[in-house]
Amino acid sequence: MKILIVEDEIKTAEYLRQGLTEQGYSIDLAFDGIDGQHQALHHQYDVIVLDAMLPGKDGFALLRALREKKDTPVLMLTARDSTHDRVKGLQEGADDYLVKPFSFNELLARIQAIARRGRTQESTLLRVGDLQIDLISRRVSRAGQRIDLTAKEFALISLLARRQGEILSKTVIAELVWDMNFDSNTNVVEVAIKRLRAKMDLPFSQNLLHTIRGMGYVLEDRSAVG
Ligand code: CA
Repeated sequence: MKILIVEDEIKTAEYLRQGLTEQGYSIDLAFDGIDGQHQALHHQYDVIVLDAMLPGKDGFALLRALREKKDTPVLMLTARDSTHDRVKGLQEGADDYLVKPFSFNELLARIQAIARRGRTQESTLLRVGDLQIDLISRRVSRAGQRIDLTAKEFALISLLARRQGEILSKTVIAELVWDMNFDSNTNVVEVAIKRLRAKMDLPFSQNLLHTIRGMGYVLEDRSAVG
């Protein structure tokens, strides 16, 4: 699931990006209203988290421009006690609002709720062979059997599934899932891949997660390729 965060407080934006990435979401950031509007109009997002007070163009103006063209669900962030802002935001077409400061868990719950209302076309259910990943309920199953994963394993499998058939290098995986530059001394990616395999491949007759020697990993249903 793809989320755009438009927030000029860099600390808050980075905190949200890190938290949501850990939850398996794919995040784009914009630090002002102009860049935010450009990204919101030119890319497909499942949810946009939009701060009301922004340099360049404020959140309300951005929302108005967005609503002329798109129905992307929007969660508006407003300042404490500014009832006027909340009402205005909802009138302009925000799907929900959250008053600053807020807890990460509340933000996450609101994002999941507005994404579930599902105005966007993009599927929130990923399938690779008999493996199924529900990006909203965060449930993974294979051949109808529930697979319990840690948050990092979920982030990893969602990334591989979103880009199924594509070889992803350890560097790319380390960057996108762990938000770190790949350091050849660490084997964090290999360890996580091994754990993931033990859960989603080993108990089943056919492997979906493949190692491409010297290149990386790919998730694909090779029985379908023939
Ligand atoms: Ca702000």
